[in-house]
Amino acid sequence: MPEQVIELLKEQHEEKPVRELNDLGIRKTERPRLVILGGGFGGLHLIRALRKQDFQVVLIDKQNHHTFQPLLYQVATSGLEADSIAYPLRKPLNAHPDCHFRMVEVTEVVPEKNLVVTNGGTLRYDYLVIATGARTNYFGMKDIERHALPMKSISDAIGIRNRLLRNYEEALLINDPEQKDQLMNVVIAGGGPTGVELAGAIAEFKKYIMPHDYPDLDVKSAKIHLIELTPELLPAMSDEASQKAEEYLRQLSVIIKTNTKIEGYDGRVVRTDAGNIPARVMLWTGGVSGAILPGLGKGLVTKKGRIKANASGRVKGYDNVFAIGDVAQIETKNYPQGHPQLASVAVQQGKFLATNLTRHIKGKELKEFHYINKGTMATVGRKKAVVDMKKWKFHGAAAWLVWLSVHLYSLVGFKNKVVTFINWAWNYFNHDRETRLIIKD
Ligand SMILES: Cc1cc2nc3c(=O)[nH]c(=O)nc-3n(C[C@H](O)[C@H](O)[C@H](O)COP(=O)(O)OP(=O)(O)OC[C@H]3O[C@@H](n4cnc5c(N)ncnc54)[C@H](O)[C@@H]3O)c2cc1C
Repeated sequence: MPEQVIELLKEQHEEKPVRELNDLGIRKTERPRLVILGGGFGGLHLIRALRKQDFQVVLIDKQNHHTFQPLLYQVATSGLEADSIAYPLRKPLNAHPDCHFRMVEVTEVVPEKNLVVTNGGTLRYDYLVIATGARTNYFGMKDIERHALPMKSISDAIGIRNRLLRNYEEALLINDPEQKDQLMNVVIAGGGPTGVELAGAIAEFKKYIMPHDYPDLDVKSAKIHLIELTPELLPAMSDEASQKAEEYLRQLSVIIKTNTKIEGYDGRVVRTDAGNIPARVMLWTGGVSGAILPGLGKGLVTKKGRIKANASGRVKGYDNVFAIGDVAQIETKNYPQGHPQLASVAVQQGKFLATNLTRHIKGKELKEFHYINKGTMATVGRKKAVVDMKKWKFHGAAAWLVWLSVHLYSLVGFKNKVVTFINWAWNYFNHDRETRLIIKD
C-alpha cells in the first residue's frame, strides 16, 4: 500500500522528488491519528485543551519551540532575552504516551490521500489541522524583501538587535556626518501595533541607553521614522487610541509620516512618495499573509492567503481537515470575512477545535465558533499605552499596567513569566536593557 501511494504521488508530481512514506518514524496505533501543522498560538492551545487519550497526536513544526510573537520587539530592542519568549514544543506532549513531535518543514498536503509531505518524509493522517500562521508580506516589492528586516521569528528579532547595535558601533568609526546619520537612522514601515511598539522601544533605547553607551555619538542626529500608508497610526483601533499613540511617539521624538507610501529600498535609502530617507536599517511590519501550503484546491485560498473554513473550523470540501489561527478564514455570522489575525483569536480557535474534535470522535454534532473580543491594546513605552475595550477606552499608566499584566499572564511557561517580570522590573527601575549583545550571525 505505501509503495502504491508513492507511485501515485510520483505520477502527480513528475519533476518534484517525493519523500518516502515513512510516517516520520511514528508507528500507527489503534487511535485515529491527528496531525497538527504548527505549534503557534492555535496549535499549542489546541494540544493543551485536547483530550489526548482520544487520538494519536502528531505535532509538526519547523522550529522546536513556540514563539510568543507579541514580545518579539522586546528581544529586537534588547529588553528581553530570546529564551524568555520561547517554549519547547516537546514539553506539552512528553507526559502522554501516544503524542509525538517532529521538527520538519511541511512542503505540501495531499488531502485526497490524507498525506502530509515534509522535508523529512511523508506522513499519513486521519485528521489534519492546519495552524501554520502567517508569513511576512512584501506585496511583491522584491528590493524591500531583499534589504528590509522582517520580525516574525526569534532569529529575525535577534537579527534586528544585531543590526541596530552593529550600526551604532560602526557609526563611531566614521567621520563623514552623512554616513554617520545613515547608520544611526531607523525606518519602521507600518504603523500597526508592531510598528508603534518597535518605534517606542527604539526611541526609549535612544533616550535612556545610547547617551551612556555611546557618549561619542551625537545621539540627537539618530532619527526614528515611522511610515504608515493610511491616514492614522493603529488603524484597527479607535481614533482616540491612534491619536494618543501618535502623541506619545512624538514626545519620544519619533518622526511620524502617515498617508505615505514606501516605494522602494536599496539598503541605504528608503524611497517614499513623500521623499527619500537615508537609513541603513528598515524594519518591515507592513503586513502578513497566511502561510498556506501547496496542495489545497485553489478556490479554498483567499486573496489574503487564508484557507476558507466553515464556522466549525472545517476546511470547505473536506471532512477531516481543519484550519485555525492566522492561516484560517473561519467564516461565522459575526465575522463573514474571517477573524483578525491576532493571538487571542488563534488561542480561542485552538481551544474551540479541541472540543469539536472530541465531539466529532463521539459522533456528536460540531459546534460553531464564536469569538469573544476582549479588546485590543498597544504600548509605546514606560507608562504609555492605549487600550480599547468594548465599554472603556483608556491610556497612560493604567493602560500600560493592563498591557504588562495581560502579556505576563499570556506568556507560555511559568519560568518565562518569572524571568520576564524580573527583567521588566529591572529595566523599569534602572532605565536599562541588559541584553544588548551582538551575536555573530
Ligand atoms: C511581531 C508581531 C507582534 C504581534 N503582536 C501581537 C499582539 O500584540 N497581540 C496579538 O493578539 N497578536 C499579535 N501578533 C499576531 C499573533 O502573533 C498571531 O496572530 C498568532 O501568532 C497566530 O497564531 P497561529 O497559531 O495562527 O500562528 P503562529 O503563532 O505564527 O504559529 C505558526 C507555527 O507554524 C509553524 N509553521 C509555519 N509554516 C510551517 C511549515 N511549512 N512547516 C512546519 N511548520 C510551519 C511556525 O514555525 C509556527 O510555529 C503579533 C505578530 C507579530 C509577528
